[in-house]
Amino acid sequence: MTGYKLLIDGALVDGDMTMDVLNPATEAVLATCPRASEAQLDAAVAAAKAAFPAWAKTSIADRRALLLKLADGLQARAPEFARLLTQEQGKPLTEATAEIAYTEAFIRYLSSLELESRLIEDGDSRRVEMKRKPLGVVGAIIPWNFPVLIVAFKLPMALLAGNTIVVKPAPTTPLTTLLLGELCAEIFPAGVVNIVTDQNDLGARLTSHPDVAKVSFTGSTETGKKVMASAAASIKRITLELGGNDAAIVLPDADPAKAAPGIFGGAFMNAGQVCLAIKRVYVHDDIYDEMCTALAKLAEEAVVDDGLLQGAQIGPLQNKAQYEKVKGFIEDARANGTIIAGGTVDDRPGYFVRPTIVRDISDGTKLVDEEQFGPILPVIRFSDAEDALARANASPWGLGGSVWSGDRDTAYDLAERMEAGTVWINKHLDFGPNIPFGGAKQSGIGVEFAEEGLAEFTQIRVINEAK
Ligand code: NAD
Repeated sequence: MTGYKLLIDGALVDGDMTMDVLNPATEAVLATCPRASEAQLDAAVAAAKAAFPAWAKTSIADRRALLLKLADGLQARAPEFARLLTQEQGKPLTEATAEIAYTEAFIRYLSSLELESRLIEDGDSRRVEMKRKPLGVVGAIIPWNFPVLIVAFKLPMALLAGNTIVVKPAPTTPLTTLLLGELCAEIFPAGVVNIVTDQNDLGARLTSHPDVAKVSFTGSTETGKKVMASAAASIKRITLELGGNDAAIVLPDADPAKAAPGIFGGAFMNAGQVCLAIKRVYVHDDIYDEMCTALAKLAEEAVVDDGLLQGAQIGPLQNKAQYEKVKGFIEDARANGTIIAGGTVDDRPGYFVRPTIVRDISDGTKLVDEEQFGPILPVIRFSDAEDALARANASPWGLGGSVWSGDRDTAYDLAERMEAGTVWINKHLDFGPNIPFGGAKQSGIGVEFAEEGLAEFTQIRVINEAK
């Protein structure tokens, strides 16, 4: 398959280089796609900079209308997007179809927001008003786990606020983002949206570019630290959505039959490659064996296969590096716990790992303390809820967490004390464009979605008038 193009200054263009994109279910080349040079990245930033003044002057209603056209365009080609997403990312077609539908819903909702404008004071001696103005060029950096949806976490709000944007997808999942570029090329004025791809070599140039006013980054904590450092030189605004090690705490009054499917879904969606996935589950002594058995049963029953095949519930890991990393976590689990389901990789092409449940493992091991970002879940025993909470909080990360209980008050009390940006009760991984989303501690800085997220793409302008 060929025909993928970069989007620079309103034109769909070839890259100065090319690169192969693999299908993780087969390890075969899915497409050869353009790879931008440094000069092309610079051209994209220059185009965004040149387009900014005119775009910022358009009305928010006009910008919203174009964003809604993007949502319409995506809706019209949703099956094509979903299929390509499965092929490049690996997730089952059902999940890919849902991701495209979510993307459309995010674009529609986020472009319905209004920019805050507030009359702070209108007294005898002065009139003080606060408005929100766009920043300029936004650099948006996307990871490989949700290559379409995460673009919709950034682009609609950046553009609605009057900024222009340069989007850089991850090297292993550029195709759906480039397809989105085809739609953008037909809709937005030249330079407003630019999309460039790389082989992990242009991110730093984008985040340190003097003409980029803000970086909106989603990816690992390690790369986030580099982004933060490189933004310092010109005091760029940054929003960082980084890694996590979400804990689920299952109290003794939870019903294992009800909780197990919710925990399994929260841990194994997208083969565990979700920033907000459950990455460790603390289960009370009283129901520990029952929960382990229920989770192991779900893992044994799960259909692991090429995401394009009907019935596949868990696809391959997205790329070879992640596959090797997850295999390392399995070895650690074998040494420090008891694997009661999975623990094997399929002897076939593709980066397939069976969903793996590990019991009798404790804090202080690699699998519990680090982010596995794959289909392997440690189940840790506790006898005192306060101790479980302390262990859940004893992490440098704080993205999400959940409490599972039959008693709402107890669950709520623990939830309030979990050090995370989002805490769920009796569920995990439920979010939406109207709910602010951000990480505590080393899981990030700033917020995405809702009015709070939109505000991060703006600069406050106070007009203070003498009377
Ligand atoms: P990554 O940090 O390796 O890459 C993310 C993006 O950053 C890619 O586009 C990559 O090309 C780019 N990049 C690489 N080096 C860069 C540099 N020096 N400067 C700027 N950009 C650079 O992460 P990944 O492996 O693609 O994604 C997995 C990680 O992302 C996990 O840790 C996961 O938890 C996290 N993640 C977080 C969220 C969230 O919203 N918090 C969402 C998805 C993934």
